[in-house]
Amino acid sequence: MGGALSYINPLTVSGVCDFIILGDGMEVMDHVIESLRAYEGGCGRNELWRRLSENPCILVPPVDIKDGKLVRDLKIGRSLDLNGPYPVHSAWMTERGAFGRTLLLELQRGCARSCSYCTLPQCFGKMRWRKFEVIEEALEKITARFDVPQAGLVTPEAGDYPFLPQLVDRLIEKKIGVSFASLRLDRLSEQMITALAGSGRHSITVAPETGGEALRFGCGKKFTDDLILEKLAMAKNLGIDRVKLYFMIGLPGESEEDVAAMTGLCRRIIAETGQSLTLSINPFIPKPGTPWKDEIFCGKHTIRQKYEKIKKDMRTIVKKTPQLRLTGIKEAETEFNLAWYGYNESRKLAEYIESGITKLPESDRERTRTELGRFM
Ligand code: SF4
Repeated sequence: MGGALSYINPLTVSGVCDFIILGDGMEVMDHVIESLRAYEGGCGRNELWRRLSENPCILVPPVDIKDGKLVRDLKIGRSLDLNGPYPVHSAWMTERGAFGRTLLLELQRGCARSCSYCTLPQCFGKMRWRKFEVIEEALEKITARFDVPQAGLVTPEAGDYPFLPQLVDRLIEKKIGVSFASLRLDRLSEQMITALAGSGRHSITVAPETGGEALRFGCGKKFTDDLILEKLAMAKNLGIDRVKLYFMIGLPGESEEDVAAMTGLCRRIIAETGQSLTLSINPFIPKPGTPWKDEIFCGKHTIRQKYEKIKKDMRTIVKKTPQLRLTGIKEAETEFNLAWYGYNESRKLAEYIESGITKLPESDRERTRTELGRFM
């Protein structure tokens, strides 16, 4: 196993994996392949585990965890040189895939900002980006062989990628549609919106996170209501008439006014731009590897109360009442629990599933925090 979770809390799945590649996987791939070849050649499972555990960037639970505790210091790969000889884009473009015929281009890893709830800055290493020439070369090669109708730009924040203007120009020139994995409001440019609209899109997704400006700034999203209005009005003028807004509730220090301000902000957007709004509202989950990791998860009672207030407030917007998508309370509790699973809970969950018990073991945040301290 590998991927995003391995940067944040690999222990969540440690009870069910033979091995977990920690962080940027490409550097250890040769070692993994050699070990698996030896296993295929008949060296046996214990020897496979032993070989894999020679590498500090591979967690091998059967070897590295004794009595529920890590017995080896491990390292999460966070410094891969993206301009090295590694894949730049997705390997598959097919209607049968999750992204259809969109070619995913990875531009950047890590983030130079420091939003208090976000795992990116601490867990994924310092901001690294691919040179424009590297992306361009990969694009030339693939478009020479295949029809690429759409490119999905994979970055923590597209507007922070330093070569975005050149890249978007090149994609437009090649008549390739563009979509962005993430759009930070304060970095939205006319060029980005024009590229989206030119690809046939009429909606964008942005994340004010909360209604209150001071709390929003405290989260790391340092933009005012006026700036949000300015950017959305620009988007409207360029053909974007639907907006999905991400908000969180239960943020540390959140007041009733902050929750009420969400409705005020939506009211202003609708009045000043005429856009239709869909709100995705999610309870704040304190995650490992974030400045707010020790903060309180507000729990079901508070979530329910806040949801009720938001629903009531939003109904007062009579014209173009925003549509609400509220994350399920159970789902939020599950997310919080899983975020802090250690080996013991992971094992217990596997046992429950095997014996048909539909119950989630409680996480032990204190203990998992200590264990995660052994990953460099
Ligand atoms: S929320 Fe976005 S801008 Fe903030 S740290 Fe995370 S990736 Fe960076």
